[in-house]
Amino acid sequence: SSTEQSGFTVVVLGPPGVGKTSLISQFMTSEYVAYEAGSIDRDEERTISVLLDGEESTLNFIDPSRDEVDLDETIVDAYLVVFSTNDREAFEVSIETLFQLRNELGTDKTVILVANKIDLARKREIGIEEARAAAHQYDCKYAETSAALNHHVDELLVGILKQIRLHMENR
Ligand code: GDP
Repeated sequence: SSTEQSGFTVVVLGPPGVGKTSLISQFMTSEYVAYEAGSIDRDEERTISVLLDGEESTLNFIDPSRDEVDLDETIVDAYLVVFSTNDREAFEVSIETLFQLRNELGTDKTVILVANKIDLARKREIGIEEARAAAHQYDCKYAETSAALNHHVDELLVGILKQIRLHMENR
């Protein structure tokens, strides 16, 4: 079959230790991944091909804290803003990032607030209502994941691609 292949760039933001690297490496092994397109130059740059609704899309994940990339907003299709649910400071950093993206950069692109480490339930400091309200305030989607246990990571991957496609249709 002839597949019209589209490629998207997803920037993963968040302070050190919240699980960005773990999430990206779990994306690589998702059942939705048709193939790993392989890293370009650097190990940290991760590109995969995702098959969803009969259509294949390439997703390139960039972690600006590791990858030396020139973050030109025009090449970005979606932002993941990651915090860990056991770390209030990380949550506050993520709220600041949402503010920067929406109010300072003024982007209308897909932004997903990701609450990671939900497996650490007894150490949880940020409840679902509070986090969801913050996401809503900044017109973002909200996802809860455990990269360690690979919980809801596939759903997040699919959600990213769905949101990017929706955004493109609505333009
Ligand atoms: P990064 O600095 O944001 O890239 O974070 P890493 O992916 O390197 O993860 C930091 C630490 O948190 C590592 O020890 C991971 O194993 C751990 N970690 C990442 N995700 C989870 C998770 O969902 N649950 C738990 N319990 N630990 C996690």
